[in-house]
Amino acid sequence: MEEPGARRLEGAPIAAEIRTAVAEDVATFTATHDRAPHLAVVIVGRDAPSTVYLEQILRGCAKVGIDADFVELEGEATEASVTAAIRELNAEPAVDGVIVQMPLPPSIRLRSVIDAIDPAKDIDGIHPLNAGLLRLGYDGFLPATAHAAVEILRRSGIEIAGRDAVVVGRSAVVGMPAAFLLVKEDATVTVCHSRTRGLAAHVARADIVVVAAGRPGLITGAMLKPGAVVVDVGINVVEGRIVGDVDFESAATVASAITPVPGGVGPLTNALLLTHLIRAAERQNPTPPATRNAPAPAPVRAATSAASRGDR
Ligand code: NAP
Repeated sequence: MEEPGARRLEGAPIAAEIRTAVAEDVATFTATHDRAPHLAVVIVGRDAPSTVYLEQILRGCAKVGIDADFVELEGEATEASVTAAIRELNAEPAVDGVIVQMPLPPSIRLRSVIDAIDPAKDIDGIHPLNAGLLRLGYDGFLPATAHAAVEILRRSGIEIAGRDAVVVGRSAVVGMPAAFLLVKEDATVTVCHSRTRGLAAHVARADIVVVAAGRPGLITGAMLKPGAVVVDVGINVVEGRIVGDVDFESAATVASAITPVPGGVGPLTNALLLTHLIRAAERQNPTPPATRNAPAPAPVRAATSAASRGDR
C-alpha cells in the first residue's frame, strides 16, 4: 500500500549503481594484478543470523568478481586461535580485506580481536586506527552500516548541511560513526541512548532522525517533526517478520522520506562494503608505473657521482 506523503528511500537501486561501478574497478584490478581482489571472512562458531548476513556478503562479492571465502574456526576456538588466524590473513598478500563475524562467543574479548586486524585490511572500519581517523575527519575505512545510513541520504539528494540531526544509538559500529559522518556533512547532531531523558523531545526537533537502537517500534510518527527524514537502521525479528526500530506506518504519514526495513539501509551496507574492499585492494597493491614504451633512462656517469667520489 502506498503511504501518504513519505518518499521511500530504497537502498536497492543505489546499491545496484554502486555494484556496477565496483565491478568495473574489480575488472581493472584483476587485469592489472593477475588476480581478483580477495575478502576473507573469519567465522567463530555458527550463529544463524550472522551466518545468513555473511552468506549475503559472499554472494555480493561473487556478483562483482571479488573472491571471498570463510575462514571457519570451531565454536570452542580460543582468543589466541582467533587472533592467530587473523594475523595469518594480515600477512597474506593475496588477502585484501578481513571481516570478523559478530557477535563473538562471550569467552573471546572483542577488543583483542579488533586490535589484531591490520587497519589496512579492516574494511568494516572497526579497528581503533580507522575509528580515530573518522573521529578526526580523515580518510580511513568506515563501518559499512554507518556509512550506508548517511550515504542513502546523500545519494537520495537529501540536504544534510545545516540541519538538525538526531542519532538514536551510540554504539561504536553504528550510532557513533553515523553521528561523526553527519557532523562531517555539516549537520548539527544530537546523540541519544538508553539513558537519554526525554527522547521524544529530542526527536521532535530533528530534521533528520537516524535510528540504530535495536528496539522495534521505538520511534513513532507522533514523535516526529512533520517533514522529517527518517533513516531506520534497526533490524529486528518480530513474529517472524523483519522490522526496523521505527513504526513505519505511523512514521510514513508524518515524515517526508523514510527508509523501509528491509530494503533501505541493508542493501546499501553490503554494496558499500564492496567499495571498501576494492579500495583496500588498490591501496595495498598500487598499480606499478607503466614501463612499456617508456624512454630508456639516461646512463648514469658513475665516476662523477658524489658517492663514488666519497663526498658524504
Ligand atoms: P547496540 O550495540 O545494541 O547499540 C544499541 C544502541 O541503542 C545503544 O547505544 C543503546 O544505548 C541504544 N538504545 C537502546 N535502547 C534504547 C532506547 N530505549 N532509547 C534510546 N536508545 C536506546 O546495537 P548496534 O550494533 O548499534 O545495532 C543497532 C541496530 O542496527 C540493531 O537493530 C542492529 O540489528 C541493526 N544493524 C543493522 C545493520 C544494517 O546493515 N542495517 C547492521 C548492523 C546493525 P546504550 O548505549 O545506553 O546502551
